[in-house]
Amino acid sequence: MYDFLIIGGGVVGTFIARELSHYEGKTLLLEKESDLSQVQTTHNSALVHPPAMIPPEKGELKSRLARQGNEIYQTVAAKFDVPVNKGGAFLIAKNEAEIETLLEIEKAARERGIDEVRYLSKEELLAKEPNLNDEIAAGLEMPSGMSADTSVLTKKIAANAVKNGAEIVTGEKVRSIEFADDVFTVKTESGKSYQSRYVLNAAGAHNETIARMIEEDPPYRMRPHRGEYMVLDASEKNFMRHIIYPLPSKKGKGILIIPQPDGTTRLGPTSTYQESVDDTPLTEEGAQEIRSEIASLAKNVPFDKVYREYSGVRSSINQDDFYIRASKEYPSFIHVAGIDSPGVTSSPAIAKYVVEEIIIPQEPLQKKGNVYLYDTE
Ligand SMILES: Cc1cc2nc3c(=O)[nH]c(=O)nc-3n(C[C@H](O)[C@H](O)[C@H](O)COP(=O)(O)OP(=O)(O)OC[C@H]3O[C@@H](n4cnc5c(N)ncnc54)[C@H](O)[C@@H]3O)c2cc1C
Repeated sequence: MYDFLIIGGGVVGTFIARELSHYEGKTLLLEKESDLSQVQTTHNSALVHPPAMIPPEKGELKSRLARQGNEIYQTVAAKFDVPVNKGGAFLIAKNEAEIETLLEIEKAARERGIDEVRYLSKEELLAKEPNLNDEIAAGLEMPSGMSADTSVLTKKIAANAVKNGAEIVTGEKVRSIEFADDVFTVKTESGKSYQSRYVLNAAGAHNETIARMIEEDPPYRMRPHRGEYMVLDASEKNFMRHIIYPLPSKKGKGILIIPQPDGTTRLGPTSTYQESVDDTPLTEEGAQEIRSEIASLAKNVPFDKVYREYSGVRSSINQDDFYIRASKEYPSFIHVAGIDSPGVTSSPAIAKYVVEEIIIPQEPLQKKGNVYLYDTE
C-alpha cells in the first residue's frame, strides 16, 4: 500500500516524486513509456523562461510558479549538473511600431519587481548578435532565460527521488482507477494492481483520460496544440548565442531561436490546435511558417544545416491557467492538469505547490530526518 501514487513520468510528475520523497510516506510513480520524459518534456523548446515573458494575464498561477521555477533552476541545474545554455534571452521589436509594446512589457516587468530586464538599442543588439535581422528596431535583455537538457534533468531528479526512497516503475500504463474505503486501486495494462491513499494525475496530454477513470465529468477538457520545430546542427552553434523571442501575440510566445546546451539550435514552435494528443511529423505549412518567422528575426539562417525536425503536443486545456487542484468528488485525487508552457520552467515550483498547498492542508506531512537534496547515487 502506497501513500502517494503519481501517474506520469514527465518532468512534472518526477519533480513531484522528488518533493514527496523528502517526506515520510511511500511514493510510487508509474510511467507508461519504457523511460521517463519521452513525451512533452523532451518535445518542446526546453526553455527556462525569464519571468518577464510569463505575465499574469495568461494565468496567475502560471506566472507565479514560472517565476519561482526560474529561481529554483538557477540552483537546481548546477547542483544536479544538468547541461544548460545560460546565454540569456533577447525579446525583439522587429520594427519601430513594435517598440511601444516592447516598452510596455519592460514597464510591466519592472512593476512586478523584475529588474533584470534592460532595454537594448538596435546597435547594441547587433553588436552582441551579428546575425540578427538588420531591420530590427530594439530589444529587451533578460539574462535569466536559459535552455536545459530536460532528459538529463528528469533522470537526475528521478535518481534523487529514488535515493530518498521513492519507487519509479516505467512501462506501466494505467488503465483503470477505483476508489473504495479511502483507498485507490490503480490497475495497469500489464495486469498489475497498486493501492494508494492519494493519486496524483500528472499525465500531461492524457490528463483528461486519467481523470475520466475516476470522475464522470472532469473539471477541464484537453485542447492539445501541436508545436513544430526545425533543429540546426551543432556545427552552427555560433549562429545565435542568445535565445531570441519575437514579441508575444494572441497566439502565444511565437516562433523563437533557441540555442541548446549541446550546440544545436531549435527553431520553433508553431501552434496549431489538433484533436489528437499524439505527435506528428513536421508539416509543410509548419516548415513554411518557421522559415518565414525566423527570417524576420535573423539573417544568414543556415536552413541547409537543419538535421532534425519534430513536433510536440502541448497539454493545454479549455482554461488559460494551470489546473492544480484536489478533485471535488475525491479530495485525495489531485489534478495536475493543463501544464502546457511554461511547464518545464514551473515544474520544481509545481511540485512544491502540490505538496505544500494541496496535500499538506489536507493532512500534515512529516519531513524525513535525513534527506539527500541532490545526491543521485
Ligand atoms: C511545442 C512545445 C513547446 C514547449 N516549450 C516549453 C518551454 O520552452 N519552456 C517550458 O517551460 N515549457 C514548454 N513547454 C511545456 C512543457 O514541455 C510541458 O509543460 C511539460 O513538459 C509538462 O510536463 P509533464 O510532466 O506534465 O508532461 P509530459 O512530459 O507529457 O509527461 C506526462 C507523462 O505521463 C505519461 N502518461 C500518460 N498517460 C499515462 C498512463 N495512462 N499511465 C502511465 N503514464 C502515463 C506519459 O507517457 C508522459 O511521460 C512546451 C510544450 C510544447 C508541446
